[in-house]
Amino acid sequence: MKRRVFGAGLSGSALAWGAGWASFGQPLLSHPRDFAVVLNLRTGRKAALWQPDQASHIQAAPGSTVKCAVAAAALATGITHAERTLHCPGWWDPPAQLGLGRLPCWDPRGHGSLTLSEALAHSCNVHFYQLGWELGSVALWEWLQRFGLGNSPATKTAPSPLLATGQLPGWGVDPWDLLAYTAAIARRGLPLEGEVRIPAISLAEPVWDSLHTGLRLAAFSGTCRGIAPQGIPVAAKSGTILNSRRLGRPTLWAEDFQAWLLAFWPLPDPHWALVLHLHQGKAYEAAIPIARQIIATISLQP
Ligand SMILES: [Zn+2]
Repeated sequence: MKRRVFGAGLSGSALAWGAGWASFGQPLLSHPRDFAVVLNLRTGRKAALWQPDQASHIQAAPGSTVKCAVAAAALATGITHAERTLHCPGWWDPPAQLGLGRLPCWDPRGHGSLTLSEALAHSCNVHFYQLGWELGSVALWEWLQRFGLGNSPATKTAPSPLLATGQLPGWGVDPWDLLAYTAAIARRGLPLEGEVRIPAISLAEPVWDSLHTGLRLAAFSGTCRGIAPQGIPVAAKSGTILNSRRLGRPTLWAEDFQAWLLAFWPLPDPHWALVLHLHQGKAYEAAIPIARQIIATISLQP
């Protein structure tokens, strides 16, 4: 099979860096179980893979990456609108009938009052606990199905605030699920049958605008700040998941977490989508510098 390289136009087989080393010889993925893929959003072909043999071993909860689907559902059903603000004091007290204790935001200082796009940018859990509660389990699960994220049985009976923040133990998505999800958001619901099947999702343009605005803000000044190489407008969403075997431990370290990172660029008409999974580490500390390097590498090719 003829294997083309970037310089030949990215139209052939995907480049694969099996050992996790970028083409210029710098170590990129630090753990042997990490994985990354870049998809060409115009052809539906994989443009680059890092440690492709790891993809089939990865099943993890989506974490905060699910908040894009929740935001879309909340806007599309009319339970929220782009200008509505919700206040985050650092925690959320669930309605008594859910039988859940006080749920924390990831930032105990609280985020104050945020619009939906700002809540996406800062990944405010309180905002999404509330939207999940207002949507309800049935509607939220249907929307997750539409975005290709509701396939685990655990998602069908889960309390909707936990589903809406992607924290559910036993919920597994794989990198291909998240690549199709990222691509669907990047392409504003326009389907594409390529090496990855990108689903058709029909939503009003202002809904897609809100998602793109929130994810661009995340890359500019939110939880993914620092991801965009100079001059490249990037949209991004991170997700950090506590390894299930570490649940309930009193002291947690960075290596007790796994990280997802989704990105697409350049805006406003994205050409590339990235999914990165790190077996150990928090998204901001570990995933952002790697994603930035991948985005720069792909974007510098002719
Ligand atoms: Zn918050």
